[in-house]
Amino acid sequence: MARFLGTIQGQRGEASRLGSKASGLRVDASSWQGRISVFLYERNGVDMALVRFEMHHGKGTDRKIIYEGPVSGACAECRGTGVVPIIGAGVARCAVCSGKRSIAS
Ligand SMILES: [Zn+2]
Repeated sequence: MARFLGTIQGQRGEASRLGSKASGLRVDASSWQGRISVFLYERNGVDMALVRFEMHHGKGTDRKIIYEGPVSGACAECRGTGVVPIIGAGVARCAVCSGKRSIAS
């Protein structure tokens, strides 16, 4: 059963592919200067996204994470909303769960 959907738009119109819980979904956007890859996968019932830089024909930045966390944008730990992804920070957590702010403040 499809859980994920990838769509692309280019010179020859639009195309799409479905992904299941078992297969996940990978979408690559490449240029001669590098690549951005998006992976969608399921973990403990939560749809997760991993967005990272990758090399393309020897150009670009190798596997540097831009965002990893719930595709909803929620905190990966408490599932609270309103997480602002931090580049290179790994799995996205809210300010409270990342220890940068107490609940009271
Ligand atoms: Zn949190």
